[in-house]
Amino acid sequence: MLQLASYAASEETSTGRTYRESGPSYRNQYQRDRDRVIHSAAFRRLEYKTQVFVNHEGDMFRTRLTHSIEVAQIGRTIARELNLNEDLTEAICLAHDLGHTPFGHAGQEALNHCMQAYGGFEHNLQSLRVVELLEEKYAEFPGLNLMYETKEGILKHCSRTKAAELGRLGQRFLDGLQPGLEAQVANIADEIAYNNHDVDDGLRSGLITIDQLQACRLFSIQFEEVKNTWPRLSERRMTHEIVRRMINSQVSDLIQTSQAMISEKDPGTIDDVRHAGEVLIKLSEPMREKNIELKQFLRRNLYQHERVMGMTDQAKQTINTLFMAFMDNDRLLPEETWKMISGATGEQDKARRIADYIAGMTDRYAIAALEGI
Ligand code: MG
Repeated sequence: MLQLASYAASEETSTGRTYRESGPSYRNQYQRDRDRVIHSAAFRRLEYKTQVFVNHEGDMFRTRLTHSIEVAQIGRTIARELNLNEDLTEAICLAHDLGHTPFGHAGQEALNHCMQAYGGFEHNLQSLRVVELLEEKYAEFPGLNLMYETKEGILKHCSRTKAAELGRLGQRFLDGLQPGLEAQVANIADEIAYNNHDVDDGLRSGLITIDQLQACRLFSIQFEEVKNTWPRLSERRMTHEIVRRMINSQVSDLIQTSQAMISEKDPGTIDDVRHAGEVLIKLSEPMREKNIELKQFLRRNLYQHERVMGMTDQAKQTINTLFMAFMDNDRLLPEETWKMISGATGEQDKARRIADYIAGMTDRYAIAALEGI
């Protein structure tokens, strides 16, 4: 087995888990975390949650589940190459979207709007809530009792107000510290995955075209190469050839740039990484610019496409209506959920429990729930 870098996360230097447990017999602690994520209910529900396209629009599009698996694949490649903790990276990648609402970002925006008077709703914070509190898998503790570094990676962003309530996990946002490198890898693997698979899904949906994408250098450079090598390739195979080359070019750039950053800053431990003053896992400046170009293209032409926006408006309305209806009359909730919510200690607590319930819904469960009220 490869020797981990001295600045990689390791269970020997970790503060470990909130609740003490005996060590795993056949796995390391981070493999155990990964497996706990895979066996969680929230992970299974990602299969029916929107990434960009609503789940029932077609079976060929990415869902949050397939997105998370692609993020993990990219993250593991990078972590392995940089001698980082591959198991931890995989655990973070698979868990990174657990707190997402149904209907993608539209759902999250709507729920945040509903929760304004009750402390708001942030999907990163919700992912942490899922693994710390909402999963009911163990007799001895709530949640999944994950390792500190796994939770550090899951809590990618957080508002300052919330950070102040989270102890050591939140303190880094107040102190301006960085997370470990595995968390940094997971963060950028997420971006690489969705930018590229959204090109693929966008083309498949017909909402964007190869011609339009020529405006993005990340795409056009690879298009030229593929076209020159195979002039008569079908559009489908051409798209895949281009997209996988796009991913490869970003991953290679990221590995080289990060290796140079690590050599320059020369961290000895994971705490040196946290105090490095900037992220060490990054794309080169030219690649970052191309990446932004692609992101802006996707925002303008895909995420803001009228067909996607139509779905977005409907999604917001669904979340809004469900939240208001449950707040007004909690007897509309299924019996088991009602029992859980009726134990709330006040309006704020009640709203939070309803938000937990709605956030846990899949797209189709939310649509069915709307029909039931
Ligand atoms: Mg993601």
